[in-house]
Amino acid sequence: MKKITIAIDGFSSCGKSTMAKDLAKEIGYIYIDSGAMYRAVTLYSLQQGIFGADGIDEVRLQQEMEQIHISFQLNATTGRPDTYLNGVNVEQQIRTMEVSSHVSPIAALPFVREAMVKQQQEMGKAKGIVMDGRDIGTTVFPDAELKIFVTASPEIRAQRRYDELKAKGEQANLQEILENVKQRDYIDQHRETSPLRKADDALLLDNSQLTIAEQKEWLYQQFNRLTQSDC
Ligand code: C5P
Repeated sequence: MKKITIAIDGFSSCGKSTMAKDLAKEIGYIYIDSGAMYRAVTLYSLQQGIFGADGIDEVRLQQEMEQIHISFQLNATTGRPDTYLNGVNVEQQIRTMEVSSHVSPIAALPFVREAMVKQQQEMGKAKGIVMDGRDIGTTVFPDAELKIFVTASPEIRAQRRYDELKAKGEQANLQEILENVKQRDYIDQHRETSPLRKADDALLLDNSQLTIAEQKEWLYQQFNRLTQSDC
């Protein structure tokens, strides 16, 4: 069967990654979490003191972009890809609240986006890929055969993120998470370079009232409908 490109965009913490990972596993496609790449650049910036009292040292970050190598490796235990920053597994570190609260300004920098988009397009050259993020259907793969735009209310998304952190045994404050979700939505939608928006040809999925199993099924149906009608 001919392989296609699947772009899944949407707001933060709306379950995009879960559905994208599950679909990729089911259909034997590569899964790339583009948000993890922006998180890795953010972690690097935090570790290297690029965030200062005056904000981000953009000149330094731009100079050091070439030293930031991000890759993914399948984790045999979880069956999902882990994110590596310069050869170190940072999968846990990039999911902390500290990284979440610094990532959107980093992701708004045009030179950061340019570098990430280039790598993402390279990863998708051979098709057979599911990528999730904010600008996959609009900028990274505007010709993707299947585009989905996922949304859910900020309160529901914050609750899901809270439950996820608690399940991992981490400290979590629901109000703080809700503020972070709303702040990231705002920055992601209002930045100049590739703002978060639904591509005109993307299918809209509001999963506020759906279980993980229901949204997984819905996505699988969209994939089947498209690939089977193409045969
Ligand atoms: O998907 P996730 O919430 O992990 O992404 C973290 C952040 O990275 C988002 O809040 C957004 O600012 C940025 N991002 C982006 N473009 C993408 C993926 C993520 O700007 N394609």
